[in-house]
Amino acid sequence: IAPELKNPALWRQQAYVDGAWVDADSGETIAVDNPATGGRLGTVPRMGAAETRRAIEAAHAAAAGWRSRTGKERAAILRRWFELIMQNQEDLARLMTAEQGKPLAESRGEIAYAASFIEWFAEEAKRIYGDTIPGHAPDKRIVVLKQPIGVCAAITPWNFPAAMITRKAGPALAAGCTMVLKPASQTPFTALALCVLAEQAGVPKGVLSCVTGAAGAIGGELTSNPLVRKLSFTGSTEIGKVLLAQCAGTVKKTSMELGGNAPFIVFDDADLDAAVRGAIISKYRNAGQTCVCANRLLVQDGVYEAFAAKLAQAVAALRVGRGDEPGVEIGPLIDAKAIEKVEQHVADAKARGARVITGGARAPLGGNFYSPTVLAEATPDMLIFREETFGPVAPLFRFKTEAEAIAMANDTEFGLASYFYGRDIARVWRVAEALEYGMVGINEGLISTEVAPFGGVKESGLGREGSKYGIEDYLELKYLCMGGM
Ligand code: ADP
Repeated sequence: IAPELKNPALWRQQAYVDGAWVDADSGETIAVDNPATGGRLGTVPRMGAAETRRAIEAAHAAAAGWRSRTGKERAAILRRWFELIMQNQEDLARLMTAEQGKPLAESRGEIAYAASFIEWFAEEAKRIYGDTIPGHAPDKRIVVLKQPIGVCAAITPWNFPAAMITRKAGPALAAGCTMVLKPASQTPFTALALCVLAEQAGVPKGVLSCVTGAAGAIGGELTSNPLVRKLSFTGSTEIGKVLLAQCAGTVKKTSMELGGNAPFIVFDDADLDAAVRGAIISKYRNAGQTCVCANRLLVQDGVYEAFAAKLAQAVAALRVGRGDEPGVEIGPLIDAKAIEKVEQHVADAKARGARVITGGARAPLGGNFYSPTVLAEATPDMLIFREETFGPVAPLFRFKTEAEAIAMANDTEFGLASYFYGRDIARVWRVAEALEYGMVGINEGLISTEVAPFGGVKESGLGREGSKYGIEDYLELKYLCMGGM
């Protein structure tokens, strides 16, 4: 059953290709379920390579018209899209909670965050400046143009069903690119609703299409079709590597926002109450299912027991339940596989000597619900130190010196978000510089904003999203050398 909406036009069970709402060629569909109840929400078309090819060809056909508009014209359309998203915030949030599970308050927050990328890049559309360079000879002049890359593909995950789309579509469309989107199969309805509003805002047909269905077949076409000049992917490092390899055949540009293994370091001089608040928001947001969630809490010896006690008390008070119930802070995990991974990490940690100080099991509600958990005496030999848990489990590792904390924090192939709490100004600089991460929260657990560059180093990815840097991922430099002056 679909959630009740004030604007029923947002509810679509068809894909959006070349400005039309369509079914799969085969007529086949895939089911979408509510992770809190297991109930069926609806279906979307199971599309494959043929439908994807048509969407790409439409994006190619629309590209010349879209890029030839002025930045100001594109900005006006994007601005309308932003306003429509905010006007429909409540409905979009309800749709999101129904298919994704996160608490309504978080869904409302994500819709505003998602809209902020459209607003920001609408403004940036007018400010794509090139450059002039003093020539290397008296008769030469050098100019650098920035031009849209062309047709872009986007493949997005289920944990942020709206924001991961707008963070790509916003800069792409602002830059003058066109885009074919494949949303995660768990959360297609939010994506399709965003397309309804894009159409209403005046995004021309073919400029943005959304194909739903078989990831392998759609991804195969998006990564091999020579008309696609760029792929932007958010998801697991494992799939990101597959897509990178597939893109090599036609040398596509790529932006990759992949997995993390975020350290959250608490030094002896930290404000412990602030650190607990930061840990709660960083670790337990979206039930631990974000790529910037603290995965490993590294706590200095002198405050270890005190921090553990305060954190456990705050975590035990978190309210678990269906995302559409008032006051709920922890919703269900996305599916049975997600719960199994969390169970595996906790069982492995316990077998290697970790102590459960709160939670440690599925929640009494059953289904996909897991109790928010804190584990003490975690050690680097545990699975939970190496892999992203993607669930509401905080393992506390003990360290003695700053050097040891930095070595532990950097002992991973990932490098997305990191966090630390401490007040010594010299150490704040030293640690911020030493962490091999794309983002560092210092006395802060929530770092995502459209105005700052989001992205990772090492196996966490390529490129940056958001901020004045984010649009560069959708632009090519062209150098003009004028001779014979
Ligand atoms: P998550 O753990 O967030 O589900 P995935 O990397 O598995 O991460 O999925 C992220 C996105 O990539 C989803 O839209 C998914 O459907 C898509 N995807 C998964 N496998 C492939 C593939 N082989 N080719 C293209 N896209 C894929």
